[in-house]
Amino acid sequence: MEASPVPNLPEVDTRHWIGGERVGSPATFVDRSPLDGVPLAEISQGGAAEIDAAVSAAQQAFPAWAATSRKERAELLHAIADGVEARLEELAQLETADNGALIRSHRRGVIPRVAHNFRFFADWLLDELDHPDFETRGHRNHVSWDPAGVCALITPWNAPLMLATWKIAPALAAGNTVVLKPAEWTPLTASLFADITAEAGLPPGVFNVVQGLGHEAGAALVAHPGVRRISFTGSVPTARGIAAAAAANLTPLSLELGGKSPLIVFEDADLDLAADLAVEQYDNAGQVCLAGTRLLVHANVVGEFQKRLLDKASRLKQGDPRDPETDIGPQIHPDHFARVDGFVRRAVDGGARVLLGGGPNTDLGGLFYRPTLLTDVAPDAEIVTEEVFGPVLTLQTFGSETEAVALANGTKFGLAAVIVTSDEERAARVSGKLVAGTVWVNCFFVRDLRAPFGGSRQSGIGREGGTWSFDFYCDLKNTVTAP
Ligand code: NAD
Repeated sequence: MEASPVPNLPEVDTRHWIGGERVGSPATFVDRSPLDGVPLAEISQGGAAEIDAAVSAAQQAFPAWAATSRKERAELLHAIADGVEARLEELAQLETADNGALIRSHRRGVIPRVAHNFRFFADWLLDELDHPDFETRGHRNHVSWDPAGVCALITPWNAPLMLATWKIAPALAAGNTVVLKPAEWTPLTASLFADITAEAGLPPGVFNVVQGLGHEAGAALVAHPGVRRISFTGSVPTARGIAAAAAANLTPLSLELGGKSPLIVFEDADLDLAADLAVEQYDNAGQVCLAGTRLLVHANVVGEFQKRLLDKASRLKQGDPRDPETDIGPQIHPDHFARVDGFVRRAVDGGARVLLGGGPNTDLGGLFYRPTLLTDVAPDAEIVTEEVFGPVLTLQTFGSETEAVALANGTKFGLAAVIVTSDEERAARVSGKLVAGTVWVNCFFVRDLRAPFGGSRQSGIGREGGTWSFDFYCDLKNTVTAP
C-alpha cells in the first residue's frame, strides 16, 4: 500500500507485537482516516493463531515479571511515561488522524493523561497499595497483592490509547503480563505504543498487541483459557458476548460500558454554567461514554436555558480536528455516522422537534454531523433510552425534584450524572438518589485517578482507578501468622 497521504504522520509498524517481535498475519485490513476516508495503513488481521502466540508469550514472560520488585516495575512504568511524553506530538497527530478527535485535546489533555496513567499507578504501587497488618487474637493478618497472570485488554475507538493505558498501567504495575486487542477502527497508537514500551526496556512478552477484528481476534482472546483477567471497555452487546465467553473459564472480568447520562438543571441553577456544561456534552463529537446527553431542565427555566444553550452551541466551530480552532470534528466511521443519523431520523419521524442541527453538516460533507438538540421526546422514545454516541442531546422538562430524579434514573444505564444547582443540600440529596458511578455537581469531566470509576446497571461491572484497579488485577491473599 502507498504511504498515507496525511502529512506529518510518524511511521508505524502495524504488525502485531508478540514476545517483543513484530509478527505479521496473512490477512490484513485497511485502516482509514475519518477526516477524509484516506487509507492510513494496512493492518495485520490476527485471529486465533496470533492470540494463542501472544497469550503463550505473555505466559512465558509472567513468572519473571511477577518476581520483579515493585521499585523495578515502577521505574519501568515511569520510563514508559517518559517515552510517551517524548513522543507526545507524534501520538497526538496519529490519534487525530485515526479517530478524528481534536488535536488540541490530544496535545493538552489526552496524551498527557496517557503518561499520567503510568506515573499514577507506579506511584500508587510504591506509596498507597498496602494496608497495615491487623490482629485477630494475637494472630497477624497480612494482606498481599499477588499478580493474577495474563490480562486480556479490549478497548474501543473513542479514546484509544488513553483508555488502553488506563488498563495497561495498573495491570503491569501489579506484575501481570498483557495482551491488548485495540479497536479495529483505531489501531495505530497501540502499535506505536509497543515501540515505546520496548524503548523503555519492558522485557519481551510482558506487553503484547494483537491487531484484528472483534469477532475474530477479540473473541479468541476472551475465550482463551490461559487468560486470568479480562478488562473490556466498549458497548453493551459486545460485553454480553464477552461475559458468556468468560463464563466458560470463569475468568474474572471488568466491564466499562455505555451510558445515557442525565444533566439535570434545577430552577436555582446558574443558567450560564448550565448552558456551558450542556455544550460540553458535544465534546469529541459526542463520542463520549460519560456524556450527559439527556438534558432534564426545570420547566420554569427551560426557556432561558434553551436560549443560552442555542446561543453558545451556535458558536461551536465544526471542521478539521487538526485545526486547533476546531471544536467539533467528524464521526469515527461511515457505519457509525449512519447509525447516529438513523437515531435522529427515527426520532424526528416519531415527533421530536429539532432545536439545533438535526442532520449531517452538508457544508463540510464527509462524516461531519451537526451538533443536534431534540425536544418533544417521550421518556420511552428510543432517542431517550438508547445510547446514540454522537453529538445528539435531548431536552426534557420536569416540575419537581422527585420527578427529576425519576426521569434521571429511568434508564437501563448508570454511568454518570451531572447536577446543576446552587443549593448544596439539594445537590447532596439528589446525588444520594441517583444511580450513577460518577455524579458531577456544577462541573463535568473532572477526574481524579484515585477515585473509583465505572458504571452501575448496564453501564458495567466493577470499578477502575486507584486501589480498585489493583483489586481487579491482583489475587488478594491474607496470610494469618500465629503469635
Ligand atoms: P464495541 O463494543 O463495538 O467494540 C469495543 C472493542 O470490542 C473493540 O476492540 C472490538 O474489536 C471488540 N470486540 C467486538 N466484538 C468482540 C467480540 N465478539 N469479542 C471480543 N471483542 C470484541 O464498542 P465501540 O463501538 O468500539 O465503543 C463504543 C462503546 O464503548 C460505547 O458504548 C461507549 O459508551 C463505550 N465506552 C465506554 C467507556 C467507559 O469507560 N464506560 C469508555 C469509552 C467507551
